[in-house]
Amino acid sequence: MKNKVVIVGGGMVGAAAAVQLAKQGAQVTVLEHSPIDAQAVLDDPQIDIRVSAINRFSESLLEKLGAMRLLKATRVAPYYQLEAYEQLGNSLLFDAADVSQTHLGHLIENKLIQASLWAQFAENGVAVETVDTLPTAIEQNLDSITLHYADKSYQADLLIAADGGRSPLRALANIGVTGWQYQQSCMGVLIKLDAPQQYKTWQQFKPSGPIAFLPMRAPYANLIWYQDAQTLAAMSDLSNKQLKERIVEHFFELPGDFSVEQKAIFPLARQHANQYSQGRLVLVGDAAHTINPLAGQGVNLGFKDVAALAECLEELEDLGDSKALKQYERKRRADNLAMMSMMDACYFGFSNDITPLKLLRNGILKIADQAGPLKRKVLEHAMGW
Ligand SMILES: Cc1cc2nc3c(=O)[nH]c(=O)nc-3n(C[C@H](O)[C@H](O)[C@H](O)COP(=O)(O)OP(=O)(O)OC[C@H]3O[C@@H](n4cnc5c(N)ncnc54)[C@H](O)[C@@H]3O)c2cc1C
Repeated sequence: MKNKVVIVGGGMVGAAAAVQLAKQGAQVTVLEHSPIDAQAVLDDPQIDIRVSAINRFSESLLEKLGAMRLLKATRVAPYYQLEAYEQLGNSLLFDAADVSQTHLGHLIENKLIQASLWAQFAENGVAVETVDTLPTAIEQNLDSITLHYADKSYQADLLIAADGGRSPLRALANIGVTGWQYQQSCMGVLIKLDAPQQYKTWQQFKPSGPIAFLPMRAPYANLIWYQDAQTLAAMSDLSNKQLKERIVEHFFELPGDFSVEQKAIFPLARQHANQYSQGRLVLVGDAAHTINPLAGQGVNLGFKDVAALAECLEELEDLGDSKALKQYERKRRADNLAMMSMMDACYFGFSNDITPLKLLRNGILKIADQAGPLKRKVLEHAMGW
């Protein structure tokens, strides 16, 4: 008999887990409070301001799940280079050619990634149910786990929490988190550029916080602007024309004239679940870890969770085997923690104007840019390998 898997949350990570486990033979049900019509989203010309830099590892997972084929027919944009700048200082340039690759990854709207995975549900027998209330209790015994709502219950062999950073399921299971709220937030700005297709994504580290340029399918691009929350809140009241003036002052290297199309503010938090599994319950994606978006790694780590979980569960008779779920946790925890810590070291080390640190990081950028093997290692890590 097929193992039953219930996944709460059909975002990018929950949807990937659903397709992957269904392909491995499980009977999967996704519980989602905002279900989507995948085809309508894929056909929608409206650009999503939420965009992710998808690395090569994630691309290969999306390829395997059948999603990449659909995405390539939409508005994806490959990037070949990634550059990090110190303010008025040295820069560190990563190029796909350094590791004999055609590209480093793709910039893709989040809603398209999610929809390309939802489009695989029917073919793989994944069921979707809309839930409009929060779950009330989790009950486990040796053979199964049951998720209760006020009016319905779902019994499964394995329950997956993929319900995002605030994860109601994680809270219901009393799994705590360690982390903090950064003092800054970031503003995402969708711009329409008067320039040919761009292939380099870059970040500039300023004392006031980093800024980043993410080239989407021309003529669009996404700008990320870190600032203290108060300044950003005031900026959100600016008209698009006024915001453009501020951007021109702050972003030194945009490739052409542009208009501001949309803006949104995202709070920043670092959060790590104290455990990734509890009996037959397991956490994936942002439900397990929320990382500073500085290097665009959040959903990439979530896709790595999915791949690791699938590997630990492959050919098991009982997908809720707590030993296998602990093995998944061991595999992923250290990797996620290392990436979070590396992001914080960059974020705190670069976002200030302290002279000795400035000299040190200029030195680091210079050495790193010239050190071939070290650069290759970092690059391979960023690509998810
Ligand atoms: C500004 C910014 C830029 C970023 N850039 C990048 C990038 O370039 N690259 C990258 O890899 N990552 C990036 N990230 C991180 C990335 O967006 C997240 O890691 C990713 O969205 C997490 O996916 P998820 O599926 O785990 O969670 P979510 O996207 O939060 O999805 C959770 C899903 O669960 C549903 N849900 C929630 N609660 C319930 C409930 N009670 N019942 C049923 N359903 C529920 C929601 O509707 C949603 O569909 C960025 C983040 C930010 C803020």
